[in-house]
Amino acid sequence: MSQACVSSASVYRERMGAYAAGVNTSRNDLSTEGDAMTTRRTFLKGISSIVTATVAGIESPANAQAGKLDENDPQAVSLGYKHDTTKVDKARFPKHEARQKCSNCQLFQGKARDAWGPCPIYGGKQVAANGWCNSYVKMA
Ligand code: SF4
Repeated sequence: MSQACVSSASVYRERMGAYAAGVNTSRNDLSTEGDAMTTRRTFLKGISSIVTATVAGIESPANAQAGKLDENDPQAVSLGYKHDTTKVDKARFPKHEARQKCSNCQLFQGKARDAWGPCPIYGGKQVAANGWCNSYVKMA
């Protein structure tokens, strides 16, 4: 008889003896499996919570209410953003027209009568409805 057979036979005898004595020999195996399942389930619940929180964070009104864009923000400066379209540097942006403003820009995400609204160019920060920057796209 090989070593493996001797070993299997002794495990079989041990389990049969325990079975006869009313001991559940598979308990430890199931317990370990149960722990692994619990850990996996806990992990998946954790991931699910993170994903839900992330998605909720992206779409939440609180996020949509990001702070107002500062005219001195480096990106705002580079795109010539002004809260008041009449204050745009005409020498630097000769194509700018006074009637162009955030409220009639395709990228403005505020409602028609909102004084401020999010702009994706600035990571959702609030821009003035009367503002303007060089990324202006005329509303169709
Ligand atoms: S991209 Fe449009 S909405 Fe955004 S700041 Fe510039 S002009 Fe305003």
